[in-house]
Amino acid sequence: MAQIELRGIERVFKLGDSEVHALHELSVSIETGEYVAIMGPSGSGKSTLLNLLGLLDRPNAGTYRLEGRDVTTLSPDEQAEVRSHRIGFVFQSFHLVPRLTAAENIALPLMLAGVPPAERRSRVTKALKDFGLDTRAGHRPDELSGGQRQRVAIARATIMRPAMILADEPTGNLDRATGQDVTALLEGLNAGGVTLIVVTHDPVMGSRARRRLMMEDGMLTHDDGSPAVPSLQYD
Ligand code: ADP
Ligand code: MG
Repeated sequence: MAQIELRGIERVFKLGDSEVHALHELSVSIETGEYVAIMGPSGSGKSTLLNLLGLLDRPNAGTYRLEGRDVTTLSPDEQAEVRSHRIGFVFQSFHLVPRLTAAENIALPLMLAGVPPAERRSRVTKALKDFGLDTRAGHRPDELSGGQRQRVAIARATIMRPAMILADEPTGNLDRATGQDVTALLEGLNAGGVTLIVVTHDPVMGSRARRRLMMEDGMLTHDDGSPAVPSLQYD
């Protein structure tokens, strides 16, 4: 059983009288622990696909099975529960809460999940240390560099120990060196067994991934596959 199975996904946005077919006949399977880069021109549907994978959006047609379970038909509350425990999301523009400190931003998913304060504190302290942020715990996002903000965002995305990390152009707002640090951090998490799916324009990151999905006009035009499990891929 693949961790992720999309079958016949369609996503249509209606804007007044016109329709945008953002995803069309999209089927793909992704195994636990894979490192996948999603690439393609602007407007080809990459973010739409990632948002569906992250249960931030629903398809108009098709099915999404996550860890064997059809998640397309879950209620919003049930989807939020799956998202909270299984999925970590990292965005290009960080999406931190401006009024909260680094430590409070990282603690947010634990608070929402009802993790008791003592355990929360110890997990946040460890995360701050692991991500090289221990001296920045009390800083708000506007008091942090871009690289530090993205590290806070990755710490927040991983604090619930998700099974997969979805990152939408995570290095898009960072300079080259800082972007490489963030890439290394994400790859380290993948080396620890977490599935890593990254939308990227960066050919270097694209070439480092173990599998590339190329998109054009809402369709998958190329998949260089995970040859280790062909029978599960296209059954
Ligand atoms: P990419 O991330 O590859 O640049 P997107 O997935 O953001 O592309 O967008 C794919 C297409 O869907 C584009 O034509 C975009 O304008 C359209 N689109 C995306 N989100 C929405 C939305 N919420 N409402 C209307 N159209 C959208
Ligand atoms: Mg996008």
